[in-house]
Order: sequence, then structure tokens, then C-alpha cells
Amino acid sequence: MSMQQNIPTSTIEEKLFTVKYKPGPTSHLIPDQNDCQVCPTKACNYFCPANVYHWDPMQSLNLVAYENCFECGACRLGCVYQSIEWVYPKDGHGVTFRHG
Ligand code: SF4
Ligand code: SF4
Repeated sequence: MSMQQNIPTSTIEEKLFTVKYKPGPTSHLIPDQNDCQVCPTKACNYFCPANVYHWDPMQSLNLVAYENCFECGACRLGCVYQSIEWVYPKDGHGVTFRHG
């Protein structure tokens, strides 16, 4: 006999709607662009759940939309060169999570 569970579900878009951003004036995420230029996978462009990183081949730059970062910390571990300088945003900037 199977037991039916009534677990409320929500989409990632609904979950992200509970996130509030207050971006600081400068990026709290600074990848070493020299490493990015030779990085074979540009992995951060794929694993960041907030799509913060975008490799621009025309400029040969890893663009950083730091305003969208919700500080999960994945890019500190996932960068193959460990080359992202990462600090928490200061002075009350950054992300807050609302519940309910
Ligand atoms: S994974 Fe690291 S080295 Fe590669 S593009 Fe992203 S930040 Fe740059
Ligand atoms: S901390 Fe998380 S959300 Fe922010 S840039 Fe890194 S992987 Fe993306």
C-alpha cells in the first residue's frame, strides 16, 4: 500500500521570488580574467544557479552580473582554478530571503 504525501511544491521561479537583492556599488565576485581566458570549460557559466557568469568571446571577458548572486558559495568550490575572489557583500548589501 502506498502512502500519499501532500508535500507542497513550488517552482524555482516561485522560490526565487522570495529572494530580495540589494546590490552593492561594486562586485563582491572577482574572477581572475587571466585564468578565465585559458579555462577550457568556463564551468561557472553553467553551474551558477543564478546565471551570474557569462563568457563573452568578443571581449574575451568573463562578465559578472554580481547583482543576481544569492551567495550560495558554489563558485568558490566549482571554479577549476579556484580563481574567484569571493567576499560577502558589505554594509547590508546582498541577498535576503523572505519566508512565507
Ligand atoms: S570556472 Fe573559474 S577560471 Fe573558468 S571561467 Fe569560471 S571563473 Fe574563470
Ligand atoms: S555564490 Fe552562487 S549564486 Fe553567487 S555567483 Fe557563485 S554560484 Fe552564482
